[in-house]
Amino acid sequence: MNLQDYIRTINDFPKPGVVFKDITPLLNSPEATTACLNQLLAMLGDQKIDKVVGIESRGFFFATLMAQKLNAGFVPIRKPGKLPHTTIKRSYALEYGDDHIEMHIDALEKGDRVLLHDDVLATGGTAKAACELIEHLGGHIVQCNFLMELEFLNGRNKIANYDVQSVLKF
Ligand code: AMP
Repeated sequence: MNLQDYIRTINDFPKPGVVFKDITPLLNSPEATTACLNQLLAMLGDQKIDKVVGIESRGFFFATLMAQKLNAGFVPIRKPGKLPHTTIKRSYALEYGDDHIEMHIDALEKGDRVLLHDDVLATGGTAKAACELIEHLGGHIVQCNFLMELEFLNGRNKIANYDVQSVLKF
């Protein structure tokens, strides 16, 4: 099965110039979803994980599936103002201006072995901010894995000190 066939490319979404990678065809296929999940887990190997951290919102799908398979907890990283309890925050640069992401202050135990996941690694700004949140709470980042990586944006350079893996490269 070629998982690339299940990624739909939409030009100029959500704004002109962006080539959007849509994972909904993949999620719509149980066979492709299972194959993708197995590839993500294979990249991790038999490393022990305590928490899988997923980035809002498309990172949640496979992060929760992986957490269940790994018998690990799932932790959401969310956009501003969505998490109800006390949070810690990190800002990251956007094309114009900046934004921030949040995580619950009690989401990790010190020393937790963490797998960070998102659907797309683009410029790497979001993933870098997510790594900072995880480490601020004392988590140890075992791997950052992604469904796909937009290689021309060199996002992995921003998180070069971690093990960075992706199922598909564009
Ligand atoms: P970045 O911080 O630039 O690495 O952007 C990563 C975040 O933006 C991820 O949460 C992705 O879901 C989303 N994203 C960025 N570029 C794309 C794209 N071309 N297609 C789909 N999602 C994207």
